[in-house]
Amino acid sequence: LFVVFEGGEGAGKSTQVTRLADTLKAEGRDVVVTREPGATGIGSRIRGLVLDRDKTEAPSARAEALLYAADRAHHVATVVRPALARGAVVISDRYVDSSLAYQGAGRTLPVQEVSWLSAWATGGLKPDLVVLLDVDPGVGLNRVDARGEGADRLESESRAFHDRVRYAFLDLAASDPKRYLVLDASRPADEIAGAVVERLSGLLEP
Ligand code: C5P
Repeated sequence: LFVVFEGGEGAGKSTQVTRLADTLKAEGRDVVVTREPGATGIGSRIRGLVLDRDKTEAPSARAEALLYAADRAHHVATVVRPALARGAVVISDRYVDSSLAYQGAGRTLPVQEVSWLSAWATGGLKPDLVVLLDVDPGVGLNRVDARGEGADRLESESRAFHDRVRYAFLDLAASDPKRYLVLDASRPADEIAGAVVERLSGLLEP
């Protein structure tokens, strides 16, 4: 089973990924927690290229899309598919929708083209469930600021950029409600974790 968490900055994805993994492990399940970009050796080099803006110049929009796609191709081939093949539950912090939202809507590349690129990179692997933690970008960015994380990088994008990203995620969820669980990220973490487990219970083998 392949579960993906998506959402903007400061939505609380990593907290919820950990919570879900702990719950499933306590049930004795084989769980693999992973993320994009940067889950593999190659991926962490790519993560540096796309996110450490003080070390290299900012990639052009198409180059950035290709770098995320390369990270994803290698991640799917070497981490996600092997884990799914042995029957593990794979939980990924970000996947294809992040590219549709950030590289597509955010950078205003044609979303259909970014979608084709991701489909090629992944060989068409789709998640069984996408949990979208929806947060107002102002609230999310404040949370990230409060943690003292990479505020410079995040603030290099405009509020309009983060709004486009948010609405792109919501549009994707609305287009395929069976595959998505949209949760208000401002709710208490316990409630969010409970809602995720409840939705997953129908998908997991006993
Ligand atoms: O989720 P995490 O904080 O690790 O994401 C790092 C950054 O990478 C985020 O700020 C997000 O803006 C960016 N990102 C992106 N396109 C993706 C995935 C992540 O711009 N496809």
